[in-house]
Amino acid sequence: MSDHDVIILGSGPAGLTAAIYTARADLAPLVLEGEPSSTSDQPGGQLMLTTEVENFPGFVEGVMGPELMANFRAQAARFGAEYVTVKATRVELGRSPIEIWTGDPDAAEPDYRTKALIVATGARSLMLGVPGEDRLLGHGVSTCATCDGFFFRGQPIAVVGGGDSALEEAIFLSKFASSVLIVHRRKELRASKIMQDRALANPKISFLWNSVVEELLGEERLRAMRVRDVVTGAVSDVPLDGCFVAIGHAPNTALFNGKLDLDDAGYIVTHAGTRTSADGVFACGDVQDHDYRQAITAAGSGCMAALDVEHYLEAARHGGHVPA
Ligand code: NAP
Repeated sequence: MSDHDVIILGSGPAGLTAAIYTARADLAPLVLEGEPSSTSDQPGGQLMLTTEVENFPGFVEGVMGPELMANFRAQAARFGAEYVTVKATRVELGRSPIEIWTGDPDAAEPDYRTKALIVATGARSLMLGVPGEDRLLGHGVSTCATCDGFFFRGQPIAVVGGGDSALEEAIFLSKFASSVLIVHRRKELRASKIMQDRALANPKISFLWNSVVEELLGEERLRAMRVRDVVTGAVSDVPLDGCFVAIGHAPNTALFNGKLDLDDAGYIVTHAGTRTSADGVFACGDVQDHDYRQAITAAGSGCMAALDVEHYLEAARHGGHVPA
């Protein structure tokens, strides 16, 4: 078991910015960075699954997502942040120190103890789970129009989903693409009326109703999607250069069920900056934000969490309690 002033769960832009700031404040943060996986719930977060990032300020020519995250990581390490490539399997909050397990969650002893905990476990895009999707992610298949839309200038693309996210992405993408086909599994959209009106009025947007994606086709790059009409059963291939999956996001908060206040969609509720409902526990990035979901906003909230932790630990050192 090892004891720490601050432990950070997650190593996307929020977690690593919190690491840079807490490391520079001499708090020697330990980052439990997650474990490699094919989803965004992995070290480095969702940017590890993107190609070029062109909207992160400071990079005039853009930067590759994985390179950006490697830079964040090295910058925090330079000031003394340490990393362990594990996922937390259990946390016990509401006690001091906070306890964290990374192995067997039923083990009697925790693996780590910390005075303050920063939760930056992010969110993951829900995926279709069809053949070709994993292989073509970043090669024509994307989950982020803001990140990747620009690369599809003048090309035919599709957006899968019928909620506000899908329509918002489709409207945004219509600025670049030659055409945007919204593929939805029902005949009615889930999205709000105003978004429906905008999408229906957009001359570049068309709809494929009652249709599910069966496979994404292409070797090096996406070239078509195989769809099945759920009413007639007819299967057809639609030629495409891009496919944006917009069927919702889910925060990585399973660890905190019943331990932190979560909103109806499962995101951590924060107040007074990045404080959560448990003393000494702070949350930043997509795990507590379903509105902005950008690397820059996640990084900004990571900075806020680090400053909140500094303040919290300073008050604790002087025997005080920081009011929520
Ligand atoms: P959502 O409202 O849950 O919609 C998800 C959509 O994806 C639904 O149309 C759903 O179909 C479809 N879907 C789910 N799983 C699927 C699958 N496996 N295969 C095919 N289609 C699938 O998610 P969201 O659009 O991300 O929105 C989440 C929340 O954020 C909502 O409350 C939304 O209003 C809000 N939001 C607001 C804005 C805005 O106001 N500008 C923008 C984005 C998001 P069914 O309809 O058949 O279930």
